[in-house]
Amino acid sequence: MATPENRPAWVTSWFQSHQRTAWLPIIKPTDALTGGSKYAGVPWLAHDEEWPACESCRRPMQFFFQLDLGCLPEGANRGFGDGLLQLFMCTWIQQGKCQPIRDPCLPFSDATLIRIIPAQGAGKAVEIPFFGEGLSSADVPGNCMAIRGWEAQTDFPRSQEFEDHHPHFRGDEDLFSDSFSCTQDDKLGGWPFWLQGTEYHHCRRCRTPMTNLIYQLRSDHILSYWFGRAGIGWILQCPKDKDILAFTWQC
Ligand SMILES: [Zn+2]
Ligand SMILES: [Zn+2]
Repeated sequence: MATPENRPAWVTSWFQSHQRTAWLPIIKPTDALTGGSKYAGVPWLAHDEEWPACESCRRPMQFFFQLDLGCLPEGANRGFGDGLLQLFMCTWIQQGKCQPIRDPCLPFSDATLIRIIPAQGAGKAVEIPFFGEGLSSADVPGNCMAIRGWEAQTDFPRSQEFEDHHPHFRGDEDLFSDSFSCTQDDKLGGWPFWLQGTEYHHCRRCRTPMTNLIYQLRSDHILSYWFGRAGIGWILQCPKDKDILAFTWQC
């Protein structure tokens, strides 16, 4: 059995050839301004639009994250589309007031809204809606954090990606992770830090696996929210259909 000491050269070169750059956000607390890349606070909304409601319970969803695709760092994938990417999720589930058909840990849930919108101008002035009484700390809308810059870091695939490509290979658990690091923190691009198996769901239009990782969100790291038990979530995109996006998490 292969160990880190006698790892075959072809395994090392597989990882090296799959190296990517991940961009870690540099954040700064901010007021509830609506534009730009940010966590929580107030989203950019069009003047004729109401605060997004959950498709399942019709209550307001919490605003988690917004990424200005026009202001990505030099060298990052600029092919995700144009406009603002936004992620909303219904947190009334934890209060027993929402029973979505599809759990929000799954892509295309009726309790999640993930979209890219063409945002022009200042957007609508809105107040953060009421999200229920007696929220546990996990459900309180988080503090608004603006993304002020990015720090590049080398990112390697998790061992699950390697195993998907080489299902018959047998090696130590540490064979890969000690040498080829994948950050579990929030990041733009890079590789998903899978906690279970790889989960590139199929595009619901063309059935292509949604392998474009746009962003990774870790529980209670920058966003004050727990995806299940200390889970990690991913914003994935169909490489062919830029408007088909999915949010999914594992824990
Ligand atoms: Zn709901
Ligand atoms: Zn597609």
